[in-house]
Amino acid sequence: MEMGNRPQRQMHDVSALNLACTECNSPIKELPFEPTQRQDGTYGRLYCYDCNKKRKPSFRGGHGGGFGR
Ligand SMILES: [Zn+2]
Repeated sequence: MEMGNRPQRQMHDVSALNLACTECNSPIKELPFEPTQRQDGTYGRLYCYDCNKKRKPSFRGGHGGGFGR
C-alpha cells in the first residue's frame, strides 16, 4: 500500500510541443490534460495555468479545488 502518495492532478508534460498560451502567449510546459492534436496541426486553444485559473467560469458558490471536473 502506498500511503502518503496523495493523488494530485496528473500533469502532462507538453514542453516538447512548443505550446503557447492563447491568452498571454507564455509557453506552456504542462497541462492538466492531454492535448489532442487536430487535423490542422493545432491543439486548439490552450491556456497556461494562470490564465486557466483566471478564465474559470464564474460558477456560483466557489469551493475552490475542482479542476475541470
Ligand atoms: Zn496564459
